[in-house]
Amino acid sequence: MRPDESFGELRSAIRQLCQRFPDEYWRGLDQKREYPEAFVQALTEAGWLAALIPDDYGGSGLGVTEASVILEEINRCGGNAGACHAQMYIMGTLLRHGSDEQKRKYLPPLAKGELRLQAFGVTEPGTGSDTTKLKTTAVRQGDRYIVNGQKVFTSRVQHSDIMLLLARTTPIDRVNKKTEGLSVFLVDLRKVDEDALTVRPIDTMMNHETNELFFDGLEIPAENLIGEEGKGFRYILDGMNAERILIAAECVGDGYWFVERACGYANERVVFGRPIGMNQGVQFPLARAYINVEAANLMRFRAAELFDAGQACGAEANMAKLLAADASWEAANATIQTHGGFGFAVEYDIERKFRETRLYQVAPISTNLILSYIAEHVLDLPRSY
Ligand SMILES: Cc1cc2nc3c(=O)[nH]c(=O)nc-3n(C[C@H](O)[C@H](O)[C@H](O)COP(=O)(O)OP(=O)(O)OC[C@H]3O[C@@H](n4cnc5c(N)ncnc54)[C@H](O)[C@@H]3O)c2cc1C
Repeated sequence: MRPDESFGELRSAIRQLCQRFPDEYWRGLDQKREYPEAFVQALTEAGWLAALIPDDYGGSGLGVTEASVILEEINRCGGNAGACHAQMYIMGTLLRHGSDEQKRKYLPPLAKGELRLQAFGVTEPGTGSDTTKLKTTAVRQGDRYIVNGQKVFTSRVQHSDIMLLLARTTPIDRVNKKTEGLSVFLVDLRKVDEDALTVRPIDTMMNHETNELFFDGLEIPAENLIGEEGKGFRYILDGMNAERILIAAECVGDGYWFVERACGYANERVVFGRPIGMNQGVQFPLARAYINVEAANLMRFRAAELFDAGQACGAEANMAKLLAADASWEAANATIQTHGGFGFAVEYDIERKFRETRLYQVAPISTNLILSYIAEHVLDLPRSY
């Protein structure tokens, strides 16, 4: 198998780090439903999670292309970058739209790894993908905002110091467009009043620290508003292309991991007196999965290239995310099938990665919503919702 090997030095540095966290590490955490604290700490100390923070603030000032290689390699080595990927891109909202004072306050400690900003509260139980209808409100009172409402699937909140929060500051019936009147805040989780914010963990099919949040009069200092009040939805949208590209790269990493495992097993497993990989019924699904991972990878690099050149890349970022999520899921299915019964045995790690990669058909944006985006914005078809 000859997957893409560009960025060789970067890949080998990440692989070296990942070797310290082998399959048993991730398997053990999965069984205990524990956060990969030691892995995230090691990645932080090595500076990789500060890849996108500019040099001026102490980060490495790399592009989304390099950042995506870091996350791809983690998944390609059998790990799960979903535990920490948001630390890379959430700060983009602060970087692009925050005040100088906010950037000076938060970015250097983020770059040093002294602060974690990896929780992002957008999704709500009542409104789901229809983000602009979200019900959580932030009402200004003097020098503070008072937040009431609820979020769901807010990931990594228990392992984050700061959370980025999207809330409505002007009621939807008092704005011209439903995308207006939403604002973004930095919530310092270390300082919140426990009665004002309840965090309820949600058990999910894979090991993913995610939570329901209940806000009951949570106070946020007004200085923690990012950019202009009411413009928050646009700020969030600005960050989504990076998120899509980085997650596409994780799916590509998963895809390569699956195909490699499946081919290794297909060559070794002898049934009816020959390796199962000699059968076209076993080969072809793996060949097809590999082809699709390679194709998705090209779109991922194309989207990253446009992003890093400061060009519009909404279509490419969305297409990369869809193609990569589909390819990794196809590879996961082919791999579990290749392993027969052993695909279901925990010690092979196939079923764990199978559960982990399935998420990306739904989060952070579901496949249908990407199709709708392409239909409307690229194909000029009528908006369907
Ligand atoms: C493990 C996990 C971690 C997550 N982490 C975060 C996080 O950190 N922060 C955060 O804010 N959110 C997070 N999410 C939420 C995630 O972004 C949402 O689950 C996702 O956006 C879909 O929203 P929903 O679950 O409400 O589904 P819904 O919006 O209810 O959609 C349900 C189904 O209907 C389909 N659908 C809905 N409307 C249409 C339409 N118009 N046309 C066609 N199909 C449609 C969708 O494609 C989907 O398949 C996480 C979710 C999970 C499962």
